[in-house]
Amino acid sequence: MSEFEYINWVRQRIPAHSRVLIGPGDDAASVEWSSGKPCLITTDMLLQGSCFLLEQTDPRLIGRKALAVNLSDIAAMAGRPVAAVVSVALPRVGGRKLAEQLYEGLSRIAGEFDTAIVGGDTNSWDGPLAINVTVIGEPTGSGPVRRSGAEPGDWILATGEFGGSILGKHLTFTPRVREAQRLHSLVRIKAMIDVSDGLSADLHHLCEESGCGAILEESMIPISEAARQMREGKSALEHALSDGEDFELLFAASPSEGRWLLRDQPLAEWGVSVHRLGEFVPEGFRLRTSDGVVRDIEPRGYVHEFDGGSS
Ligand SMILES: [Mg+2]
Repeated sequence: MSEFEYINWVRQRIPAHSRVLIGPGDDAASVEWSSGKPCLITTDMLLQGSCFLLEQTDPRLIGRKALAVNLSDIAAMAGRPVAAVVSVALPRVGGRKLAEQLYEGLSRIAGEFDTAIVGGDTNSWDGPLAINVTVIGEPTGSGPVRRSGAEPGDWILATGEFGGSILGKHLTFTPRVREAQRLHSLVRIKAMIDVSDGLSADLHHLCEESGCGAILEESMIPISEAARQMREGKSALEHALSDGEDFELLFAASPSEGRWLLRDQPLAEWGVSVHRLGEFVPEGFRLRTSDGVVRDIEPRGYVHEFDGGSS
């Protein structure tokens, strides 16, 4: 079973609740608050051995990433982060130093994004390091941007460049919180996701939730320098399409608003460019290659898998 199959399994069973505006299956949930403004909630867990190799990674960067991935999910809703709770399972041996270094990384990025760390849970055990962060935020402007609003004819747009994040960006990326808020204030973002699983996989999530297809233009895909440096028997394009953890924004807007974004580049002051990658279409999932051939592609990216057990 994959994490996505499990999420769908849960979505089919979870009862509706009158206060839940957006439930499982988006970048963050939205819950109605009696004060009027809904509350955004998202959570993410990083595991030693699966999400990072402790012996090769500065623990401060692990702490930073544990919060940053959540900030990226709040960004994907065009939300503003407010507070975070952090739970850690620390290895008994060396746990104290690790805990302090994790906090150093966490608190620095929390300060940068004006997010209060308001609590959590600290456990120790004989297992590896696990760290889970939950962020609570609030929507901005006209409300949370969901994954489900893209329509055929909309442009596929994205911030930044893709591929090769394993060479460093997966630990040092900037969550696109302020970028998303600015885009949301300037144009109608019809659907949005942050690219954590991989460009093609996350575009496929947008398509599934929106009930449409997509066609990517090879000549338009912004391929990062890191993707070009990867030497793994895959082309730079394949890395850009399938490597995870770029943490860029992938979104839908009308062609007229997309044209305006490309011309005006409203994120340039932060060194972030907006690119067009293709177009949403009624159905199918395709790539138009640089020589004009249109072919079906498989959405590729990182998927957590688990089985039913041996008993
Ligand atoms: Mg996400």
